[in-house]
Amino acid sequence: MDIRKLVKPNIRSLRAYQAEEIPCRVKLDANESPFGMTVLKSVRTNRYPDPGARELRKLVAAELRVRPENVLHGNGSDELIYCLIAAFGGPVMYPVPTFSMYGIIAQALGERRIEVPLDGAFDLDIKNCASHVKKSRPRLVFLSSPNNPTGNSFSHDRIVRIIRQSGGIVVVDEAYQPFSDKKSFVPLLKKHRNLVVLRTLSKIGLAALRVGFMIADKDVVTEVNKVRLPFNVNALSQKVATDALRNREQRKGNINRIVAGRKMLLKNLEGIEGITVYPSDANFILFRVNNGDRVHRELLRHGILIRNMKGVAEGCLRVSVGAERENRAFLKALRVLM
Ligand code: PMP
Repeated sequence: MDIRKLVKPNIRSLRAYQAEEIPCRVKLDANESPFGMTVLKSVRTNRYPDPGARELRKLVAAELRVRPENVLHGNGSDELIYCLIAAFGGPVMYPVPTFSMYGIIAQALGERRIEVPLDGAFDLDIKNCASHVKKSRPRLVFLSSPNNPTGNSFSHDRIVRIIRQSGGIVVVDEAYQPFSDKKSFVPLLKKHRNLVVLRTLSKIGLAALRVGFMIADKDVVTEVNKVRLPFNVNALSQKVATDALRNREQRKGNINRIVAGRKMLLKNLEGIEGITVYPSDANFILFRVNNGDRVHRELLRHGILIRNMKGVAEGCLRVSVGAERENRAFLKALRVLM
């Protein structure tokens, strides 16, 4: 597969912005100020950040057992979704319900959208997907697995079939993968050049930093990198993210606490009459109640805010796994209401 032929013609001929890092004694090439301000001792605020986020990419590459050339950094994975659509264009295909930004960005960039409803178990409707892939030849397919807002992972085989059948790029968005015991698609990158995996630090306690990653074939990285703005991840975020990622123990500990909280919530929700709970591999749970609007409103009267999925997954509410105290407060208020 020639990745260069897949990108839009205007991107094919584009050259990525070059921000050269030349070692020097006196740096007067970038219209920076010589006077920094004290924020974090190790961050020089007067200089532009490393445009290539090399430390951070090296760390992520090592952790995921890929090469730094296979990793591209984004100001959150949102930005990488934007860059992918800007580079490859449409049609953009995705199942529904799913993460809303795929559709919003495709529309904002004037690209055609193909929405394929999930099946009754919130899994990919493989027949319908295959026929759309064949008929409409989407240049990009977005599959959030685990899926937001349903919480489940799509079946591995169905995703692989779409990757195989598609003549375009297939993005497996693994924003919630750290909370799942299903296999990541990162090891499959070696086999499928049209596969892109998205990761983010937002769900593991670093949402404020706005840092996400795309892992892909280096030709895909080269093309998408052309539409990335040069200094998209700021120096503070690069520094804090690097330090945080090195603290593996704390990171894994927090993830384990969320998974334990999810188990506790699932078990308790299942015991409340009038609620249908859906399985979750993520850090949130989708559930259905008879009067979703009322339950949502009444919970808020108790000071508890969850997400009303009206218009996305009818009658459904989505609750994020919180700290133990928050989970208990939510369950207590819900029991009173139900
Ligand atoms: N992908 C999915 C599936 C998400 O749910 C989200 C956040 N809601 C994102 C990507 C974006 O994450 P961020 O931009 O914070 O990295």
